[in-house]
Amino acid sequence: MSECIFCRIVQGMAPARVIYRDEEITAFHDINPQAPVHILIIPNRHITSVACIEPGDANTLGRLFLVARQLAEQENITDGYRIVVNSGRMAGQSVYHLHMHLLGGRRLSWPPG
Ligand code: 5GP
Ligand code: ZN
Repeated sequence: MSECIFCRIVQGMAPARVIYRDEEITAFHDINPQAPVHILIIPNRHITSVACIEPGDANTLGRLFLVARQLAEQENITDGYRIVVNSGRMAGQSVYHLHMHLLGGRRLSWPPG
């Protein structure tokens, strides 16, 4: 079995509230939401971090944004939302399977902490 919790979610081997799935992308609700809407959007294929992306990943990475837009519409947060990708230890990345956070449903302050 995969060591990676997000790979296990993709494989259906770990529980998650999945709200979108296709052949290359899965999206599910964050287990510890930081906003009324907090969704994680991930490539199904294990990519460790932005630090590891390659030119061949470009289409999948671009599609993460298209799924984010679609989910923002579906979740009624089009008045404002934030997309975050933490990369590396100093940015607080805690799961080393690349993921996009989609946050919305409240006013989001700037700069982030
Ligand atoms: P990071 O800190 O790496 O940018 O974000 C990891 C996110 O994954 C955190 O917001 C955390 O709450 C979420 N997370 C960690 N483990 C799980 C899990 O098993 N299921 C779900 N749904 N979210 C998780
Ligand atoms: Zn993984």
